[in-house]
Amino acid sequence: MSTKKRVSYFYDAEIGNYHYGQGHPMKPHRVRMTHNLVVNYGLYRNLEVFRPRLVSHTNLTRFHSDDYVNFLRTITPDNMGDFARQLARFNVGEDCPVFDGLFEFCQLYTSGSIGGAARLNEDLSDIVINWSGGLHHAKKAEASGFCYINDCVLAILELLKKHQRVLYIDIDIHHGDGVEEAFYTTNRVMTVSFHKFGEYFPGTGDVLDKGYEKGSGYSINFPLHDGMDDDSFREIFRPVIGKVMERFAPGAVVLQCGADSLSGDRLGCFNLSLKGHADCVEFVKSFNVPLLVLGGGGYTLRNVPRCWTYETAVLLEAEIKDCLPYNDYYEYFGPDYRLHMPTSNMENLNSAKYLDDAKAKLLNILGELEAVPGTSIVTGQVGMGVPKGADVMEGIEGGNDGGKEDDMKVDGGDKKEHQSELAA
Ligand SMILES: [Zn+2]
Repeated sequence: MSTKKRVSYFYDAEIGNYHYGQGHPMKPHRVRMTHNLVVNYGLYRNLEVFRPRLVSHTNLTRFHSDDYVNFLRTITPDNMGDFARQLARFNVGEDCPVFDGLFEFCQLYTSGSIGGAARLNEDLSDIVINWSGGLHHAKKAEASGFCYINDCVLAILELLKKHQRVLYIDIDIHHGDGVEEAFYTTNRVMTVSFHKFGEYFPGTGDVLDKGYEKGSGYSINFPLHDGMDDDSFREIFRPVIGKVMERFAPGAVVLQCGADSLSGDRLGCFNLSLKGHADCVEFVKSFNVPLLVLGGGGYTLRNVPRCWTYETAVLLEAEIKDCLPYNDYYEYFGPDYRLHMPTSNMENLNSAKYLDDAKAKLLNILGELEAVPGTSIVTGQVGMGVPKGADVMEGIEGGNDGGKEDDMKVDGGDKKEHQSELAA
């Protein structure tokens, strides 16, 4: 069975013109480097490439507060002196610096994510890629961790216009705290984050933090230690996500592919290869659910385009050579000029026992969730009662009983072919 997908790709070369400042680890330029590799590998021939239509500032207030968005529109390096109080209040100035064009930068990366979600909603694509997006730390009224506007949250809100349940998966080395917080009390969005935990930014994401009230069990956190390698990541990611797909049966998935979980990242401390990182992408793709793929962190400049180019190829099911094609940034990739990069011999501080225990805790949380009505259980359990018409979901904004049943039938009734076994 062919699983080839209609893949769209949102990109605006302008993104590479923004600078967080001298010495700042975040370099928007890496997206332009990625695009250049995508083009020089010839991958664009199988992609529908779009320049995002800029969303207005009012679109951003669907999540963010009016005064925060207005502040971002107003602040410039020249007028900063007049805004000392707001700079402190909105956490702008240190990790999240003020730079020329800051608001346009936010609009640009966010427009790709919202536009991509809209395209999925219209069923014009199966997969949409926006490597400029994935700024998962931003809060409702606060910048955080190099992120100002949370495009992940805004894209999920767009997908919720059509889908009853949306799944967010985060493989950035940092906890996807801004997205988790936004949806912590709802069962319409499940967030799943795999991240380094313990004396590490942002400090949240313990295994026991599982959501609250209606959202209890719908925030899933896998805390990890230094040195995660391909094999151990695969052994936790596939079972957890397989179980999530079975229990939650999302209508759409947002996958944040932060590349700071790669080996040798300037800020990260995991030991994943491109193949280990992209295995997550391949596995999520195998479920054949509308998929929005976003970027995120990634601070060893030469490795980010390697990762996201390879993942573009994986999404297209295209084979690409390890030997890099000539490209505008060729000198960055020396001395060997290869796509794949070696991992290190660092110790993996995640013991098999630790990973098994944490995995068991999460599978237990997932197992306790009420089965999604109308969804078949694919693991062969006997006697799993499926409550007909049970009130599993509650609308984010006051509920939507009218559309609920139809949604359930479409999501759960017809699409029984979960691909977990085929892909494993
Ligand atoms: Zn990160």
